[in-house]
Parts: sequence; C-alpha cells; structure tokens
Amino acid sequence: MDEFELIRRFFERDADMPGVVVGIGDDGAVLTPEPTMQQIQVVDTLVEGVHFPPDTSPADIAYRAVIVNLSDIAAMGGCPRWMTLALTLSDSSENWVESFSSGLFEAADKYDVALVGGDTTSGPIVTVTVTITGEVETGAALLRSGAKTGDGIFVTGTLGDAAAGLKLLQRGESDDFLVRRFLRPTPCISAGRALVGKASAAIDVSDGLVGDLNKLLAASSVGGEIDIDKLPLSESLRERFAAEEQQYLALCGGDDYELCFTAPQNAVDGITGITEIGRVNDSTGLICRQNGDIVEVDDSGYRHFQ
Ligand code: ADP
Ligand code: MG
Repeated sequence: MDEFELIRRFFERDADMPGVVVGIGDDGAVLTPEPTMQQIQVVDTLVEGVHFPPDTSPADIAYRAVIVNLSDIAAMGGCPRWMTLALTLSDSSENWVESFSSGLFEAADKYDVALVGGDTTSGPIVTVTVTITGEVETGAALLRSGAKTGDGIFVTGTLGDAAAGLKLLQRGESDDFLVRRFLRPTPCISAGRALVGKASAAIDVSDGLVGDLNKLLAASSVGGEIDIDKLPLSESLRERFAAEEQQYLALCGGDDYELCFTAPQNAVDGITGITEIGRVNDSTGLICRQNGDIVEVDDSGYRHFQ
C-alpha cells in the first residue's frame, strides 16, 4: 500500500462537511469561515515513547491526538470546525492504519470536526500532529490573561481521574471509569461555549491543576488561593485511593482535560457541572490551603527539555 492508496482508503471520506469547499485531494483545503466569527488555531504533537508507549492501540493514539487539540479549542471558548493530520508511520500495515483511522474519525465525528488535509510520511517512530481550526464570536475568546482580583476560581467535572487510571494501568489493575478517563478523555467543548461572555479567564487542565492554574494566574498578573477540601473528586477515585493520594492526583495529576477558569461573582450561576475551589487575589502565585493551613504542593508539571 503506497502513501496515496493509504490516504484514499483510510482518510479520504465523501462526507459533505459544513464550510468545506475543497477537502482532501488538492494542494490545500479551501474553507469558508462564518462571517461574524474569529478563528482559533491549535496544534499538538504526540510522539511514540514520549506521549504514549509503543504498544498503545492505534485507535487510542488517534483518539487522543484529536482530543488534546479539542481541549485547547474548548479552553478558548471555541467551536471546533476543521482539522489536518500530519502522520509519521513506522508501521504502515493495514491493520495499524485502519485502527488509527477508526479512532481518529470516532473523535472527529463525536465533535463535528472535518478532516480536510494532512501529510503522510514514514519514519523510525510514530509521530502524530493534529491541527484544529475552531471559531469563536469576534472578541469573545476566553484567554488565560483576564482573571481579576476577587474572581472565583472554578473547575469543570472531577480531577485526578486520568492520572489515577494511568496509575492503575501501570500496576496491572483495572477500573472501568478511571482507566477510560485516561484512555478516552472528554474535551469540555460545551462547557467552554457556555463560559463565553461569562468567564474572565480559562485554561484546560492537561498538566495538572496546580501547574496549569499557575500559568493562568501568571498570565493574568494575579495570585490565587484554593481550598483542597473543595476539589471535586469522583466516587471511583475516592474508593480506589487513600485520601492523601486522592488529593495529590487531583492537584498534580495530568490528562484530565477539564477546564479551570475564573469568573466574577454570580457570573456563572446556573451553569451545572462546575465547582468553585478558590479565589483570585492581588498577590502572585498560588496558595493551597487545607483546614486553613497552607500546604506546600510540589508540582512542576511535565516539562520537556529538562
Ligand atoms: P502535496 O504533495 O501537495 O503536499 P500530498 O501528496 O502530500 O500533497 O497529499 C495529497 C492530499 O492528501 C492532500 O490534499 C493532503 O492534504 C492529503 N493528505 C495527505 N496525508 C493525509 C493524512 N494523513 N490525512 C488526511 N489527509 C492527508
Ligand atoms: Mg502540493
């Protein structure tokens, strides 16, 4: 199977997707943006051995490659529209590519994003780069830099589940909910859309709450305080891990792809599935408290080139 045969069989689809004038097959895609919207452009790369172990199911790799990008679109308050895929393959067996393609389109179909182009190469290890273009109402994108003193600090969903799921996998144990939270994360697209015009700042929690909230606070030139006892924890996490480990996973565990955001008092009343965990202040950095005491949280998040 050569490159062109592979693209035709596994990536080219006849689907008539909104805004796609020319999709896969020409030198470039031709897209029609909505006139009143601005575009959000995101890209993320997954490298074998760095972001996933070599024996990961190709469907799971592809699914994750789409979701990590969708999560960035969600954190900007955007609506996903179009994506491209740059794929470096070490194994171009039909089974591998077929499984990869099924995971890719499972995620794409679920969140209404059209694959409109890409690049296919062979190389020593699998590398997957996805770019997604989203749209948001002009001037309304959620930025990291808008938090103001006195705003509440909130998160969507529950925290620590994905890191707990990974831990269980590494120990050879299972838990359907936690493992699924790691393998098949859910991007918070509808939450992000609901926060447009309401939240003052937002970020997606990919590296862990403490690390990511610190980035938001720094970008906004403010400080913040959170109450560890207010962190939303799933029932499965509470059942499977000791209290201290639950807290550590919720504070520092990555890969949940929930949103952490700030909003003025009452601005997000009525939005369900969110929890207020703290408050923005006029200092710098993040303080974590439990029963009033300051707790030192050792979290650097995952950093490349260290
Ligand atoms: P070019 O040589 O002009 O860059 P290619 O021969 O690489 O074009 O690709 C042919 C067409 O197939 C292009 O429209 C390109 O966007 C698309 N394409 C290539 N690889 C992929 C892929 N992995 N997924 C989706 N579309 C792809
Ligand atoms: Mg060309």
